[in-house]
This record gives sequence, C-alpha cells and structure tokens, in this order.
Amino acid sequence: MPICTVCSLKDTHPGVTLGDDGVCSLCTLDAAGDLLENFVYTRRVFEEFTRGGPAPDGDYDCLFMYSGGKDSTYMLDKFVNEYGKRVLAYTFDVPFESTHAAGNIKLARERIPATFMTDSDDDGIKAVMREVFNRTPEKPGKYLDEKLPCVSCRTFFVIRAVLHAYRHRIPYIVLCADPQQILTMESDTREIVRGFYRAFGARLTGESFRSELEQLLFAEDGELPRIVFPFIAMRYAYDPDRIVAELKEKGLYASSPLETHCTLFPLLNYYSFTNWDCMFYKLNAASHRRAVRRDENHDRSTFSISFPRAADLPWIEERLKKVVLEIAADRGDPAAHESELVDLFTRLDASEDAARFLAREFLGMRKTAAGLGITLRSSGARA
Ligand SMILES: [Zn+2]
Repeated sequence: MPICTVCSLKDTHPGVTLGDDGVCSLCTLDAAGDLLENFVYTRRVFEEFTRGGPAPDGDYDCLFMYSGGKDSTYMLDKFVNEYGKRVLAYTFDVPFESTHAAGNIKLARERIPATFMTDSDDDGIKAVMREVFNRTPEKPGKYLDEKLPCVSCRTFFVIRAVLHAYRHRIPYIVLCADPQQILTMESDTREIVRGFYRAFGARLTGESFRSELEQLLFAEDGELPRIVFPFIAMRYAYDPDRIVAELKEKGLYASSPLETHCTLFPLLNYYSFTNWDCMFYKLNAASHRRAVRRDENHDRSTFSISFPRAADLPWIEERLKKVVLEIAADRGDPAAHESELVDLFTRLDASEDAARFLAREFLGMRKTAAGLGITLRSSGARA
C-alpha cells in the first residue's frame, strides 16, 4: 500500500492523492487555496464581531456554543469579561458524550455573568447517526469523509443553534473549534444548511428540523446569524496547556484526564476502517507528523490529541484495524482484544487507566451499535 513519505497518509485516503515523488497532496499544499480563502473570510467576520457594538434588536450579541471543555470555557470568560459581550451560552446535550465537562459548566455558571441554556434532541440526532452509519459512502470520496459521523453530529446541533439565533435575532454564533478544525469547517450559515440537505435529503431534513430550514435558505443575508471562530485570532499561538493553566488560576477548570469524551469513538474507528481503511484520527496524526517534519523542535501540540513522535503510526493503525474489525464481527477473544487495545493506547500516550477505560468501550462496540440501530459488517474496507 503506497503511503505518503512525509505524513504516512495512504493513497486511498478520501480527498488525498499521492504524487510521483511519494508526497501527498496535503503535504504539497494543493489544498491551501481553499483553506486560505476560508481563513480570510473567517478572520474578517471575527474582527467585525469584536469591533462591533451591542446588537440593535435583541437581548444578546452572540449565541456562544458552550461545551464546557477548556477551549470554550476559556473563550466564554474572555467574551463576557474582556470583550463585554452579552452572551447566551448555549449547550447542546449530545447523548453520546459521557461528559466530564459538567463540573466546568457548573463553575462557569457561578463565575461568568452570561445567560446559560441547554438544548437537546436525542431522537433527532440518533436518527441522523443511524443514517450515516448504515449507509455506504460514495467512492472515491472527499476530504474529511472518514469523519462524516462526527461532522454530521456537529452539523446537526450547529443548525439547531442557528435556528435558535435566527428566531431570537441574535446576529452571531460563536464556535470554539480548535485551529485545525477551523480550516475544515464551513463558515457560511447557508452553506451549512445546504450541506445538511445534500447529505441527508429532504425527508430526514424535514423530520429533523421541519420546515424551518427553508426559511433560513430564503432569508436575507442580514437576517442570518454569522459564525465566528474566535481561535482564528490565536491561530499561531494556540496552546492547550497555557489555556488550562489560565483557567485553573481563575477557578474555572476542574481538571479531568479525559475531556469531553464521545462514547461513539470505537464506532467512529469502525466507520473509518470499514469505509476508508484508516483510523479515525488519521488526519490529525498525519498533520502532526507534517508539523514535526517542518520544525524539528516542534514540541507543542496544536491539536486536541497528542501523537508521540516515536510512535510507529502505520503499524499501530494496522493492529487497531485488526482488533476493531474482529470485535465488530464478534470474533476472537475479548481478553486478548483488551490487552492489545491497552497496549496500543498507551503507545499513543494514554495513561494506563485511560487506556483500559477506552479498551472496555471498544469491547462494548456491538452493544452501542445495537442500541442505536446500527448494523455492523464484519468485512474490511470495501472497494
Ligand atoms: Zn502527506
């Protein structure tokens, strides 16, 4: 299997091509044009928002997507206490998240003068996930297709937030994606809605949001909330460790080894292995390699997950694939699976406890799938 000599992405990775020199299109920055355009637009919206005065029509200057994780807690504090914005902190209760963030949300409610609200729609988001997992994606695929379940989940609740902001005339929505996510996220409200239509069709879109989405598509530009990615302003200085240290100093962070943790993580790996022959975090791992190659002294992770420099990623990926597909097919010995997974996750810098916790979640993959109405296939990647 040909792989990129710099970042080790396979030539079958969706949206990626390998050149004759053995270097992939992401490493040679073929994608830079698109990403740069997105970056310029995003930066302009952020500057307009921070410079602008209070919103003329409503009670809030922005709807702030608040997960309780370190990034959004850090920015919420900044927006309210430094920028003086009137903030509606919006938390979508994702049913797949075994959240360790509840403690942080409680601290924020006590210490940050914003209005807090929680939203949820378990049936709606589960229907979307069932559809994504049970469907066969079209080949050869586009950039980020291996992350479709994750992207769809986020799109679902971002659209709910957009609708809330639209109804209450809140002009901006703040999304604290980390700097790597920003470059891969749609920043135009109408395009987010169109993307959901394209991915799920009229029926599921109608069931999820009734006729409200059409109003968004036909609204005047000025009536649509605009999306702000505040971390764009810190793109070259994003430092998770410093963020955590600052939050602890202000009493806004209850430390937890696992941040917000998605219980679908094993299934996400199953999805990316069966459809795209890669582990779920492959792009993150590849981009980390690229960064290390560019700067030998690069010792700060700019991403949420860390990939030890010495780890042999293609080898770890093959082993992980084997275990994941065996568990999905109900083959092999669970005790052997568990010790294999613990070994793999500790190689990826997880503590012994975290590795064992995660391994057990992988062992429960079939049960999680059954609970959501997802059918697992036992075969490997499909052509
Ligand atoms: Zn590459």
